[in-house]
Amino acid sequence: MSNSDGPMGQRDIPGHPRYAGIATFALLPRIEDVPHADVAVLGIPFDAGTSYRPGARFGPAHIRECSRQLHPYHQTHDVHPFAVQQVADAGDLGVTPYDIAAAVSSIEFAASEYNERGTRLVVLGGDHTIALPLLRAVAKRNGPVAVIHFDAHLDTWDTHMGASLWHGSPFRRAAEEGLLDRTRCVHVGLRGGVYDKGELEADGVLGFQVIRADDFQAQSIADVVSRIRDRVGAGPVYLSVDIDVLDPAFAPGTGTPEPAGLTSRELFGAIRGLVGLDVVGADVVEVAPAYDHAGVTGLAAAHTAWEIIALMATGAAASGGLAR
Ligand code: MN
Ligand code: MN
Repeated sequence: MSNSDGPMGQRDIPGHPRYAGIATFALLPRIEDVPHADVAVLGIPFDAGTSYRPGARFGPAHIRECSRQLHPYHQTHDVHPFAVQQVADAGDLGVTPYDIAAAVSSIEFAASEYNERGTRLVVLGGDHTIALPLLRAVAKRNGPVAVIHFDAHLDTWDTHMGASLWHGSPFRRAAEEGLLDRTRCVHVGLRGGVYDKGELEADGVLGFQVIRADDFQAQSIADVVSRIRDRVGAGPVYLSVDIDVLDPAFAPGTGTPEPAGLTSRELFGAIRGLVGLDVVGADVVEVAPAYDHAGVTGLAAAHTAWEIIALMATGAAASGGLAR
């Protein structure tokens, strides 16, 4: 399909199997091949901020390989996410593994350029450090945003071994910098890695409410969704998904796995429930393929990115085509 007929969709040529050829995300066109992208899938292979098992720098390539089976129609939303908005693969951003501050600056610069062109990013990480520069870029364009943060961990810690920029601190730094609307942020799936109660209290001051992984046991997905929506309200939303929000059974390939997490059905149900929100940017981070088995984690991450793109598509479809 040429662009004059609407967005260029997946390269799904009869006689050319999905497993053949070079993998772009979901077999989408490369960004160089479209005049404008409403949504760009961008890999950021950076993991110098990890505190435990390294390897998320190999996440973007793995997620792309695991995205070949994504199809063009979303049954729940009744939408063709690649037809109502132009989605393209922007490849990987090359950032230095030797200097976290320099990497964070170059991510902020590149993300701001996309946003200024009216392109929303769905970023494949990479460790969670990258959420900080991505939030700087979206806040520059939209003002302070709500954050819906799916993660086993708080990621509002302060310094670690003298470092202020690491994968446990992006949301503290973002709150300090005024990038977050402190009345509209929420963690979903929290369970692990807390030293003492004071960390939870400090987290609340930074603007976050907490929905625990255990809450998915006591409440329905619909109940959890309404709690998220009550917290977030209207206005621009940034969606950040650390794949370790899933139970290690569904996502073993990650740096800091925590038992008793969400199922992929619970995660997708929660994301689908956010239909109609103004999602201005998103990331799917912490996929470390060296610890994956049979692509389980890569598949979960690819489908999570697809759910987010579909969510953005529901906004585009509602506004009669291309948003923003
Ligand atoms: Mn985590
Ligand atoms: Mn995280």
